[in-house]
Amino acid sequence: MKGLIFTNTIALIGAMPSELADIRTLLGKAEIKRISGFDFYINTYKNNAIINACCGIAKVNAALCTQVMIDNFHPECVINTGVAGGMNSSVKVCDIVISTEVLPHDLDLHFLNDYPPYCGIFKADEKLIETAEKICGDFGVNCFRGRIVSGEAFVSDSALKASIQANFDPYAVDMESAAVGHACYLNETPYVSVRCISDNADDEGAMSFDEFEKIAAKRVAEIVLKMTEEI
Ligand code: SAH
Repeated sequence: MKGLIFTNTIALIGAMPSELADIRTLLGKAEIKRISGFDFYINTYKNNAIINACCGIAKVNAALCTQVMIDNFHPECVINTGVAGGMNSSVKVCDIVISTEVLPHDLDLHFLNDYPPYCGIFKADEKLIETAEKICGDFGVNCFRGRIVSGEAFVSDSALKASIQANFDPYAVDMESAAVGHACYLNETPYVSVRCISDNADDEGAMSFDEFEKIAAKRVAEIVLKMTEEI
């Protein structure tokens, strides 16, 4: 790669192999580096270095992977991609939710707010939010800006959904965004989470997830890859 100047190094992190499958197909053959148990796929794409990794499900995996990504590849920004449960009545399956901020819904926030890092709600980067919104518009895909909350369980229970809604008023629920945002905050790295809705996090959530996981994953993969061209 001698002589080639990359404009940016952009990190893409998804939790499940299904969330990275389409990105990897579109990017083509990658160099793969295994670090701390994570496989980092390295591609050059439209003059950017794109590093993608599958972190696994839930916050510990996501935080670890984000930190290892930042330590080793020093990306200009991190985009967390994948599917999520819809938490606002206007958000429908296959719509996109772009994080304005992320936080855990299953942790007493006082532990984050009153002790280091003295921050419990992690703001996403405004420019990345705008880019995601623009690309959704270009694709003709319905998108919403809003808060995404994350927890250690797949929410597929209308009562639990109602209690999370009452406490946090989020647009989407997932299991990783808060951890990616948390790690990016500590490392002063801009991030955004872009999620396609696979289910409504209610009593029918598991069935909907099985039906829409791949469709939703493909949709958000195309949007996120297009975003990298405009960063
Ligand atoms: N039914 C699958 C669920 C996997 S976990 C199984 O049991 O194997 C769901 C993944 O998709 C997580 O990575 C999470 O970030 C996201 N997700 C989608 N819908 C969700 C929901 N309703 N609640 C929590 N996470 C959700």
